Amino acid sequence: MEILHTVAEMQTRADKMRTAGKTTAFVPTMGYLHEGHLSLLRIGKNNGDDLVLSIFVNPAQFGPNEDLASYPRSLETDLKLAEQEGVDAVFIPTDKALYQEGYQTYVQLDKLPGHLCGLSRPVFFKGIATVVTQLFNIVKPRVAVFGEKDFQQLAIIRQLVTDLKFDISILGGPIVREIDGLAMSSRNAYLKPEMRPAALSLSQALTMAQEMVHEGICATDVIVEKTKRHFAQHSSIEVDYISICDPSTLDGVAAVEQDSLMALAVNLDKIRLIDNRILKGKK
Ligand code: AMP
Repeated sequence: MEILHTVAEMQTRADKMRTAGKTTAFVPTMGYLHEGHLSLLRIGKNNGDDLVLSIFVNPAQFGPNEDLASYPRSLETDLKLAEQEGVDAVFIPTDKALYQEGYQTYVQLDKLPGHLCGLSRPVFFKGIATVVTQLFNIVKPRVAVFGEKDFQQLAIIRQLVTDLKFDISILGGPIVREIDGLAMSSRNAYLKPEMRPAALSLSQALTMAQEMVHEGICATDVIVEKTKRHFAQHSSIEVDYISICDPSTLDGVAAVEQDSLMALAVNLDKIRLIDNRILKGKK
């Protein structure tokens, strides 16, 4: 497994792969790998003949009061896991390699960031769209894989690739969960055992909502109200948003008639947790 740190090294490798007719599949991450990331690597492996992983905690997507400095890191373990998954190359740039002195170009979408996580994290998607654009130009993949856990991010990347005409197929990977239903996340490392019941209330709320729709309760305000009451059982939970929306535009819907996205974000003693599920509508 190759480990590359500079943009030039990575681009030279990418050009060689293209000349050799290889299809590079790419999985960008911030590291601290878990089964969710590994599932994306497996999708990449099955959809290309060269697999590249990047590990980069992107400063541009963190706001001033967010957890950039404390974001969990475990490079040695990550490299072992990557090797086990058959990764061919790992790109680990420094902050300065991507945001060199004098850097001033940012990629911003008009509409999709104006929903869900974008409302409380104003620089988040600008940072993500910018770094992903850079990584696409450096890794030069034919295929890139992103998790549905970050549903809005996946929607934004698909839009970005369409708008900027990147010749890259974007694949989505389903959310990987712990046995008890908690969506896997690097930030779960912050959770103390006593926080688990509150953390589990996200996946529980999504299941409850789907059950309500099955029973014919489709009005968004009724489902949201019930979800709020469910979260209110845990005093440590501060709700950021409970949204039921159109999965392609992320605009809110009044009722779950078509398949709709239910997306949740809460802060649990300052630990941000998100989860989502497509609620199956009757139509
Ligand atoms: P991150 O390292 O958190 O930036 O995530 C890197 C990629 O892994 C993103 O495309 C995420 O959506 C994806 N991912 C994170 N957690 C999960 C999960 N539980 N299941 C599937 N994909 C995930």
